Amino acid sequence: MFDYLIVGAGFAGSVLAERLASQLHKKVLIIDKRNHIGGNAYDHYNKEGILVHKYGPHIFHTNSSEVFDYLSQFTEWRPYEHRVQASVDGQLVPIPINLNTINQLYGLNLTSFEVEDFFQSRAENISPLRTSEDVVVSRVGRELYEKFFRNYTRKQWGMDPSELDKSVTSRVPVRTNRDDRYFSDTYQAMPLRGYTAMFERMLDHPNIKIMLNTDYHEILDLIPFREMIYTGPVDEYFDFKWGKLPYRSLEFKHETLDESVHQPAPVVNFPNEHPFTRITEFKYLTGQQHPKTSIVYEYPKAEGDPYYPVPKPENAALYNKYKKLADDTPGVYFVGRLATYRYYNMDQVVAQALTLFKKLSATKEKEQLLEDRAPLHLKGTDSSSGGSKLKVKALKELASTLSTNGNGNGKQNGKH
Ligand SMILES: Cc1cc2nc3c(=O)[nH]c(=O)nc-3n(C[C@H](O)[C@H](O)[C@H](O)COP(=O)(O)OP(=O)(O)OC[C@H]3O[C@@H](n4cnc5c(N)ncnc54)[C@H](O)[C@@H]3O)c2cc1C
Repeated sequence: MFDYLIVGAGFAGSVLAERLASQLHKKVLIIDKRNHIGGNAYDHYNKEGILVHKYGPHIFHTNSSEVFDYLSQFTEWRPYEHRVQASVDGQLVPIPINLNTINQLYGLNLTSFEVEDFFQSRAENISPLRTSEDVVVSRVGRELYEKFFRNYTRKQWGMDPSELDKSVTSRVPVRTNRDDRYFSDTYQAMPLRGYTAMFERMLDHPNIKIMLNTDYHEILDLIPFREMIYTGPVDEYFDFKWGKLPYRSLEFKHETLDESVHQPAPVVNFPNEHPFTRITEFKYLTGQQHPKTSIVYEYPKAEGDPYYPVPKPENAALYNKYKKLADDTPGVYFVGRLATYRYYNMDQVVAQALTLFKKLSATKEKEQLLEDRAPLHLKGTDSSSGGSKLKVKALKELASTLSTNGNGNGKQNGKH
């Protein structure tokens, strides 16, 4: 009998598997319907021997020392600060928009102070800010909005920015200095040997069994377990009872080219031309030396694997209905980007998983405390889930007796 069945071997599932096995000595079965671990962060060497990210570029960045220290147990790091250029008006210019972007685009020689005036003279007064369009136009004006954001957003989301929640472009900074880094987080680095190697180390524990190419439905009635951690799509778990949660998908077209460098930056965005949104050249990300180079094109599409939850109020309302079902499902914990219908970066998912682990270990500690105090006939290690449920019920009754009649020790009474 496994203590936990973990559905999904991405960051959410793997962090929890590692913590539960190594810290609480739980027996864990982690399964994934794909043929690999690592979820969307999976990377591998292609047939030319170049390390590529199967599901598009994954750049690690975080402000959380807890997350960085945690992952550092399983990987060394290669310092890496991400940079992106955008193809606009026949030039490649830095994005997020900064001082150099404006000077290069308009053939100017503005200073930091002057560029702020430049933005302000073009910015439109919009209040309240509701949509993605409002956010950008009110910061940099309509012309830059149209050059950099409008068409990119239309391609990416299949919707005009005026129809999209302001949260989508609120994430895009505009800078008045020459800082051309894409992120400004404290920790910016890539796992030295790649993500998959890091996941292999996380899951390398005698208490963790891994099963791939398996949808969890296939084993639900075959393999006994006590509790489930579910990191797949929440609507799918409940058989789409309230309908499908909308996602935007992507098609990745990988290519290896017979040249050592393809483009002048790790990522080049194409807001206005081509049906794809961007090209990533992996060797910049990984630091790998190789006479050839591998790139990936991203083509946004409506159908396919679920990648980006569509941030609209009606979708948030639909998710809340599923969240209620999830909250009312005992013994199953919903965690990760698909199970909570949020666009989370990798570090946010790690943080979410570590938080759930802390909650689980606090509950287990409490149960252990209660069991230690339980009368003899309630003690023991039931192995059937029915027995276990009975025991939990009995322990809960005991807990409520302890808290209502004050029959505990001073520490427990002190809580009331
Ligand atoms: C194109 C793209 C680029 C990104 N770039 C970055 C980036 O640069 N930096 C960053 O920090 N984040 C990035 N992210 C976000 C990052 O991918 C996620 O934060 C992270 O992968 C989430 O981990 P997770 O475990 O929640 O989900 P996932 O990695 O998706 O793992 C969930 C797993 O569950 C499995 N599963 C689902 N249903 C079932 C089932 N029924 N049975 C068995 N298994 C099942 C899936 O196969 C999947 O492997 C990017 C995302 C995308 C889409």
